[in-house]
Amino acid sequence: MLLEVQDLHVFYGKIEAIKGISFNVNEGEIVSLIGANGAGKTTTLRTISGVRPVAQGRVLFEGIDITNMASHDRVKLGICQAPEGRGIFPGMTVLENLEMGKFHRKNRKAEMQEDLEKVYFLFPRLKERVSQAGGTLSGGEQQMLAIGRALMTRPKVLLLDEPSMGLAPQMIANIFRIITEINKAGVTILLVEQNAQQALQRAHRAYVLETGTITKEAKAKIFGVDYSEMDKDELKAELTELEKEYWGLNDN
Ligand code: ATP
Repeated sequence: MLLEVQDLHVFYGKIEAIKGISFNVNEGEIVSLIGANGAGKTTTLRTISGVRPVAQGRVLFEGIDITNMASHDRVKLGICQAPEGRGIFPGMTVLENLEMGKFHRKNRKAEMQEDLEKVYFLFPRLKERVSQAGGTLSGGEQQMLAIGRALMTRPKVLLLDEPSMGLAPQMIANIFRIITEINKAGVTILLVEQNAQQALQRAHRAYVLETGTITKEAKAKIFGVDYSEMDKDELKAELTELEKEYWGLNDN
């Protein structure tokens, strides 16, 4: 098991945002955390990447207890988050933003060109805009840059916070296609999404998070089925009424 979250509790002051959740991510998987606004999805990712402290419970990575490990040390182990709202450096160029993803690597000079080429291969649009300031990119391009910068750290697990947020439908499909490619290239992905349809179609497994509690894990019958080519109606036909409700796929 690559990543294991055990009975995690996280607070903001006296407010308990995460109320004892447990889940795991196996090597090679795309796992989605799905839930409404305020469910605790971002908090969960930020806790795994070491930005939020843990009140109770444990986070294990490759069997090592990283619950109290500093964020930058987690990056060195191979955990990297592309944050919600993208978190790029707006005044820096695309190239400078990507280079920032390498700052912690010992072999950064040797790796730099190779990894830049990989990012440009996935996101040709970034290559066309290497000298452009990050803040002048479109929303979709900023999302590409955030993911590209995270990939420069050579992550074993990539934490993605709502990569579809604020994007047009075509760009959403594009981003999710690229996420699948990144996964096929060997990167495990933990994905937080409100866009249940895309998240469910692309993920191997999914957990539903409601107000700080995991209420459901996707049933085994959806594991291993290739939903990527299904449209929404076909997908709905595969799910029970209860599952449709959980996945937000009901018409009403
Ligand atoms: P969204 O999709 O809206 O980002 P989310 O599922 O990612 O939602 P979180 O951002 O993790 O949810 O928030 C979980 C809970 O913690 C919410 O009730 C939120 O109001 C609260 N919370 C988040 N950040 C803070 C903060 N800095 N201070 C106080 N409460 C916070």
